[in-house]
Amino acid sequence: MDLNSLTISQLRAQLAAGETTSVELTRAFLERVKATDGKINAFITVCEQEALTAADEADQRIAAGNAAPLTGIPLAVKDIFNTREVRTTCASKILDNYVSPYDATAVARLREQGAVIIGKLNMDEFAMGSSNENSAAGSVKNPWDLSRVPGGSSGGSAASVAAGQVLATLGTDTGGSIRQPASHCGVVGLKPTYGRVSRYGVVAYASSLDQVGPLARNVEDCATLLGAVAGYDPADSTSVDVPVPDYLATLKEGVKGKKIGLPQEYFIDGLDADVQAAVEAAIETYKQLGAEIVEVNLPHTDYAVACYYLIATAEASSNLARYDGVRYGVRVDNGEGLIGMYQRTRAAGFGDEVKRRIMLGTYALSSGYYDAYYLKAQKVRTLIRQDFLAAFEQVDFMLTPVAPTPAFRIGEKVNDPLQMYLSDIFTIPVNLAGTCALSLPCGVSSEGLPIGLQLLGKAFAEAEILQAAWAFENATDFGGKLAPL
Ligand code: GLN
Repeated sequence: MDLNSLTISQLRAQLAAGETTSVELTRAFLERVKATDGKINAFITVCEQEALTAADEADQRIAAGNAAPLTGIPLAVKDIFNTREVRTTCASKILDNYVSPYDATAVARLREQGAVIIGKLNMDEFAMGSSNENSAAGSVKNPWDLSRVPGGSSGGSAASVAAGQVLATLGTDTGGSIRQPASHCGVVGLKPTYGRVSRYGVVAYASSLDQVGPLARNVEDCATLLGAVAGYDPADSTSVDVPVPDYLATLKEGVKGKKIGLPQEYFIDGLDADVQAAVEAAIETYKQLGAEIVEVNLPHTDYAVACYYLIATAEASSNLARYDGVRYGVRVDNGEGLIGMYQRTRAAGFGDEVKRRIMLGTYALSSGYYDAYYLKAQKVRTLIRQDFLAAFEQVDFMLTPVAPTPAFRIGEKVNDPLQMYLSDIFTIPVNLAGTCALSLPCGVSSEGLPIGLQLLGKAFAEAEILQAAWAFENATDFGGKLAPL
């Protein structure tokens, strides 16, 4: 089977017409994983048997005539989503042996539709990172250039789609972890509005920022996946009870007459020349499609990275307190009593970046520094959110680069955490504002690496940015490409 040109909508039609079966498809994708994963290391766990059983059930459901949009479609999820039958490691040694007693709501919603989950994808440990180098399961390689990072933290999710191992995946985005790897791997990735998708059963990193979203080969498949997982969940008190629109119904309506804002603070010195050229060409495309381009300002952008690394680490230090060797995962105990067991377990179980963030966050929350750091960061966050609200009064959505450069080399930034943190400068503000954004391919660098374009939408305006992304994808030829592995 030629997996190169397939999309979820095409496969759905083939399944319905009896031209293929879910079992056949699932086998083909599992084969592709076997053939390619030695090179890119995108999977932490492949669940072949469970997938084939689910595929068989999906075939029966299709035969019975009650298929849903994702029935029989092979997918995979970041190893941060709890899954009942296979372990959820979060790419950490401390959860190496952890099997959840329940499915995350997003996973359960995929299963309700009859989707086939073929495995769990590699990531930065506890979703902390921008390069997928912070993984106990080893680095993921960028399928376009194996010496480069795929981005992070959902690096396995993006790389597996780019490599044709699966059609689409679920990732999470706390400060860019869906959009930045999507950009570096040449796929489409969407971070929904805070509250749009339930995080129940998703291992928490920074709870006021974390959000679940899809990565896929094209915009339409992203819309299909979002439609499947979005919506209120009583088990997640931050999920919002507003109706989920039919994202496919409005997808092809175009951008004629739309006002697109260019935040001046995102077009800065230091932007890679190829990225700048690709984004400028995308602006021209939108003009030709009938959109109006206006300049806007997000004046507090400069403070976003510092603000994020206080809030995210503070929340992480609290969320990760639960990994103590008692309730979850691995325990290292050599008879030195309870405190000794905690210390040894956490020292052996967490990687360096996770430890760095727990220390930063604990410091920011300590009584002597709380006002100076954590409280101040919360105030800055409000200013950043107000910037977004003011800009969205003038425009329908905004357009920016996703990352200042294309994928960097493995090893290039590991010893310089600050440089690594700064690479998230264009994605982090959206999480602080709580709004939605997506990344889609808009060019290729002189070295053959994918470049992404970011569209920033108003709260709960996922349908609008998907529509704008579809218009661009169909007017150009950058999307839907598989890496030659
Ligand atoms: N790269 C950012 C970080 O390291 C964002 C990670 C994420 O979105 N999970 O925190």
